[in-house]
Amino acid sequence: MPAILWTPISSNVKTGPIPVSTTAKDSCPATCPFMRNGCYAEQGGIGFMWSALTKAGPNAAFKSGVANLQSIDWEGLCDRVQALPDATLWRHNQAGDLPHNAGRIDRKALRSLTRANKNRRGFTYTHHVMTKPNQAAIAEANKQGFTVNLSGNSLSHADELSKLAIAPVVVVLPAETDGSKTPVLHTPEGRTVSVCPATYRDDVTCKSCQLCQRQDRKCIVGFPAHGAAKAKASKVAA
Ligand code: SF4
Repeated sequence: MPAILWTPISSNVKTGPIPVSTTAKDSCPATCPFMRNGCYAEQGGIGFMWSALTKAGPNAAFKSGVANLQSIDWEGLCDRVQALPDATLWRHNQAGDLPHNAGRIDRKALRSLTRANKNRRGFTYTHHVMTKPNQAAIAEANKQGFTVNLSGNSLSHADELSKLAIAPVVVVLPAETDGSKTPVLHTPEGRTVSVCPATYRDDVTCKSCQLCQRQDRKCIVGFPAHGAAKAKASKVAA
C-alpha cells in the first residue's frame, strides 16, 4: 500500500486551512496521460515532497527541504479521518490517486476510507480508467457519502465520464483558459463547465467554495493546466 502524508491543517493557498492528504506516486495509474507529462504535482515544492514521500514508504520519518515529516499507512489515514469532527470538509490527495492493483482500484481500501468518512465531508479525484470494476467501486463510495470525482483529460473525455452517471466530473482545461474572463465553458455535448474559482480569485479556497465535494452539482469543474510543465498538460487537455 502506498505511503500517505496527513496534513491536519493545510497551508496550500488553493485548499485553504482544511485537512489534506497526499498519497505516494505508486497510487497513480500508469495510464494517466499526465504522468511525467505535465502533472502539476510533480513540480515545485509539492513535487519535491511527493518524491520524498514515495521514496520513504509508509510509516517512516523523512525530510522534505527543511521539514521533518512522518508518513502513515492506509490504516493510519482511516484513523485520522475517523477522528475528524462530524461534517469536517477534508480533501483526499492534493497529489496521488486511489490505491490499486495493476489499474484495478483496491475496493477494500476504498471501502475502509469511505466508512471512516461517514458523517465527514471528504472529497477526492481519480484518473483511473473507468473499467466496470472501477466504476462499481467509485459508484459505491459516492453513494455512501465519500465524493470521488472522475478526472477528465479533455472536454470530450469529460462528456464520456459524465455519461457513466456514477460520480461528479472534473476536467483539465488548456492553460490559456482564464476563469476571470471565461468562468463558464461548455463541453462538445453542451455540458456546463465551471472554472475552479480558486484558480482566478484570491478570496476563494476549497474551504469556502466546496464545489468539488458536492455530488449533486449540475456542472463539471474545470482546472486550467498549471505549473512549470503546463504546456505539456495543455497539449493533453486540447
Ligand atoms: S472548485 Fe472549489 S472545491 Fe473544487 S478545487 Fe476549486 S476551490 Fe476547491
